[in-house]
Amino acid sequence: MRNRPLNRLIFVLLASSVTLSGCVTLYNPATERRESYLIDTRQEVELGRNMDTELRKQMKFVTDPRQNRRLIDIGNRIAEVSDRQDLTYHFFIVEDKDLNAFAIPGGYIYVHSGLMQAANDAELAGVLAHEIGHIAARHSVKQLQTVMGYQIVLGIITGVSGTDSINGALNVVFNLVNLGYSRQDEFLADKLAVRYTRRAGFSPLGLVTFFQKLQNEAEARGPSLKLVFLSSHPPTEQRILRIDEEMRLPSN
Ligand code: ZN
Repeated sequence: MRNRPLNRLIFVLLASSVTLSGCVTLYNPATERRESYLIDTRQEVELGRNMDTELRKQMKFVTDPRQNRRLIDIGNRIAEVSDRQDLTYHFFIVEDKDLNAFAIPGGYIYVHSGLMQAANDAELAGVLAHEIGHIAARHSVKQLQTVMGYQIVLGIITGVSGTDSINGALNVVFNLVNLGYSRQDEFLADKLAVRYTRRAGFSPLGLVTFFQKLQNEAEARGPSLKLVFLSSHPPTEQRILRIDEEMRLPSN
């Protein structure tokens, strides 16, 4: 007990160094690593909310209750079993015929109406689990911080930065969607998709059959069909092989 004041001093020093640097270190079960974050969950949610507000000015959303119900029901089933439970997930349908889906920071996920129509429930679950995997691994918020810098991202969070900065942030996310996250990030999101679809009681094969459907569509319709969801990612054959390997492992 003689060391108690010293322990307390160390604790206070540690606590204040966390506050001063604004850096939080946590174990992330999605990446299976300890990671340091400059932007905490509350700030990430605020960032996503501001980006979503801007997005709404630029895109048309499908309001049909039946389609939205289907998306939200499947999305919530996946979200409930994901490795990230410190935020609320939101799902929206963008009126657009491309077979695409994307996520922005803070739990906001958008699915294009083209994909909603083309995918069956297991396939939609696979796509949503992939996007939730990106959110759980904090891929887009890490990328935003790297590309734009912490101060600008902080400006968007606090509302100091104007629309230009928010549009800059949206461009970073769209570039990620169009040009691709890193191969490593995509493989991890696929691995997490297998994990989450299994936990939620969907067939993890849904993501595989969706990839195959996209490839078949591409061959049938030629270049008029934009396969954004696939083109931004590593070669489909490699992804299917990796998903297959993951499915052979015991559930976790
Ligand atoms: Zn992805």
